[in-house]
Amino acid sequence: MKVFKFGGASVKDAEGIKNLATILEQYKEHKPVVVISAMGKTTNNLETVARSFYLKQDNAFEELDKVKSFHTAILTELFKKGHPVFDAVTNLFVEVEWALEESPRPEYPYEYDQIVSIGELVSTTIVSAYLNEIGLKNTWIDARDLIKTDNKHQEAIVDWDLSSSLIKKAITGDTITITQGFIGCTSENFTTTLGREGSDYSAAIFASILDAKKLVIWKDVPGLLNADPRYFSNPIKIESLSFQEAIELAYYGASVIHPKTLQPLKSKNIPLEIRSFIKPEEKGTWIAENEATLPETSFYILKKNQTLLSISALDLDFIVENHLAQIFSILAKYNARVNLIQNSAVSCSLAVDLDSLQAEFLIEELSKTYRIKYNTGLELLTIRHFSEGDEQEILKGKEVVLSQENRSTKQVLFVG
Ligand code: ASP
Ligand code: MG
Repeated sequence: MKVFKFGGASVKDAEGIKNLATILEQYKEHKPVVVISAMGKTTNNLETVARSFYLKQDNAFEELDKVKSFHTAILTELFKKGHPVFDAVTNLFVEVEWALEESPRPEYPYEYDQIVSIGELVSTTIVSAYLNEIGLKNTWIDARDLIKTDNKHQEAIVDWDLSSSLIKKAITGDTITITQGFIGCTSENFTTTLGREGSDYSAAIFASILDAKKLVIWKDVPGLLNADPRYFSNPIKIESLSFQEAIELAYYGASVIHPKTLQPLKSKNIPLEIRSFIKPEEKGTWIAENEATLPETSFYILKKNQTLLSISALDLDFIVENHLAQIFSILAKYNARVNLIQNSAVSCSLAVDLDSLQAEFLIEELSKTYRIKYNTGLELLTIRHFSEGDEQEILKGKEVVLSQENRSTKQVLFVG
């Protein structure tokens, strides 16, 4: 059994869905489990819906209409008028409309999950119907029936035992399975999500539980590159890499790999292949136990939209262990991801990734106990296996706010 994952970019338009079908046509004998994300920028757009609904602004329906029209245009290109998939998709959106008619609950993450999860349900409904239409018989499965989680909305923790027995029972490998990434469900049947870009993680959960031969993540890049082509020129494609090194890169924010994806694969020794859906015949990057990094190179990772929080005690007391424990539990509560920590006697500086709405709540809560200074819109450059001076070209003319290095990794936070 193989597990495939297709992200938003691979299904951003009708062409993309046809291309996915062409790839699956070649692998249909393997009856892969295919995990799919929301189409294109749908998740971002649904986040806007969730936010305006939660803040009781009046444009939630208008924003939802944009998401609907985007999908209707794709449907119209793929199907003849009157195909049942039009109704199926409409019904999914009606559920969101009902939710928007109610008053929002006080917990934003809960509302977020109920609304944003629809993106994956719609995309898989469309892809599954299209594949059936062209003769690639498949079974659509609602991932919420299989991936069971706790109720930590927006960043739910998977119940592996329960999910494992449900997945093994439901997926027998008799047909191609189409299912959603990113979403799960609590024991009370409330939809949860596993964190932004969490579809890779979903795919790894399926691969691990099903003891898959490998997980293939189909991307719009030829494989894992040593630098993000959006920000760096002449990136090098990596042919192979160990899990350990991939985990380090994901931790520092290499955008091709979601940090939680690798652990479940590593523990079952299931290789991960990253391949291009644009050139599916080409070899991608092979990540497995004890693989050497080939070619040997440095890695450059740039994370944008970093917030620097500088936290000190109100009475200028030392920042000690009990403060740190409290600070980190508040950060966890608001799903802040810490990318860099620097501690001094009286203050702790953290570069974090944060949803802008959550940032306000986080700062409000921290400010009750601490003096907080913060800067937003910073960028974090991480270089793994750096050589002296590697960063100079990239940082020319930039204002460096913080920097840190150990034997293998250098990190520099700067004004973008
Ligand atoms: N659609 C979700 C997101 O954009 C999950 C994913 O794409 O992995 O974050
Ligand atoms: Mg994605």
